[in-house]
Amino acid sequence: MTFKNDRADFPKSVVLTVARRAAYRCGFPDCDGVTTGPGASEDQSATTGIAAHIYSAREGGPRGCGGLSFEQRQSTANAIWLCAQHAARIDKNNGIEYPAPTLKAYKRMHEDKIRRERDGIGPKVGWIHSLSIDHAPVFHTPAEIQFGKVTVLLGNNDSGKTALCDWLQGISDPGTLCDWADPKRPGNLSFEVTYLDPIKQKLRVRVQSHDEIEYVINGEPVPFDPNPIRFVRLRDLAPYRFSDSLPPMSDLEFLSRTLSVNPALVRNMLPIVGSQRASTVSGLRIEPDEDGSIHVWTDVQGTSSGFSLQDQLSNTERCRVLIEIAAVFARYSAKRVPTVLLLDWAAKSFDDSWMSRVVEFLSSEENAFQTIIERVTNGLGGHSMARVITLGGRRAGVTIGPS
Ligand SMILES: [Zn+2]
Repeated sequence: MTFKNDRADFPKSVVLTVARRAAYRCGFPDCDGVTTGPGASEDQSATTGIAAHIYSAREGGPRGCGGLSFEQRQSTANAIWLCAQHAARIDKNNGIEYPAPTLKAYKRMHEDKIRRERDGIGPKVGWIHSLSIDHAPVFHTPAEIQFGKVTVLLGNNDSGKTALCDWLQGISDPGTLCDWADPKRPGNLSFEVTYLDPIKQKLRVRVQSHDEIEYVINGEPVPFDPNPIRFVRLRDLAPYRFSDSLPPMSDLEFLSRTLSVNPALVRNMLPIVGSQRASTVSGLRIEPDEDGSIHVWTDVQGTSSGFSLQDQLSNTERCRVLIEIAAVFARYSAKRVPTVLLLDWAAKSFDDSWMSRVVEFLSSEENAFQTIIERVTNGLGGHSMARVITLGGRRAGVTIGPS
């Protein structure tokens, strides 16, 4: 029989399986290190890799037990193959830097890469691993930020949260970089992004002026980054919606402009919203009102069903609907192209309990994209699943974990 406090160590068969699935190479995104090879004598081999626990081997360990049973904690599904250095690193600070959804994403990405190498086919998954800032306004530099499956950027206004989102998006959209050019200080913004597509790529970006940007990928100057990474970012249309001088927008037009997606595609996405386990909105449908105007109706968990998107939902409820539609877009995109959902304003009004639900939803394996969420307050619902980065204000440092 087993006792509650027993360590759920992996049986030898599990260690062997997870090592072989990883081709005996470290599954940490920036590493890929070889963990087996010749031993001391000609008839020996030596393995330095470790089958590390995603959820902890025992209660109170790094990342907790996640509600898993003893048997689940010692199963292959709970193991990731890492080199000794990265096995130690993920458990530092009781694992807060590497939440379970992030480790699961690392593992899946590495195994998909191995599958592609072996079979020549497989999903072309990707991951944005880190941003190293050499020179920048706002931040104390140099600074390095690693991203998780879900990353929460925590800080007051002007602490650089939106700047980080703009700079990352600048990998594929120079428009978001141009505003950060300082005419008095050319080259004031320079940073390097490490991402996997699934091969490791290092992209150096230097903003010289509003119309001069240098891109260097793996040491080679390029006119633009030819590797596609898709950023899904919601536009905040509240200022327009409440303007008296502009004609009212239909719900479909509102969604189309918020998502920067053609209305025909918005129509295609609406029926898919709510099909996932952790969804909290459902039943999105387009129907004419009595006066003939077209409305998008939706059922939002926690309220009566059948509310019109712009007229009847509260701001928080509307943001939940927007996030779930954006998640559909990001989810389909992530099947072909590395995709990041940037929520720079949409989760700001959530209380802790809704923040927790949204983080859980975005952490699910079905949503195979990364998300970056900005938060102003200390509301950290769901932070055990998210990587939390606290930005300490103007020109202050970057710290991992809640302040
Ligand atoms: Zn490693």
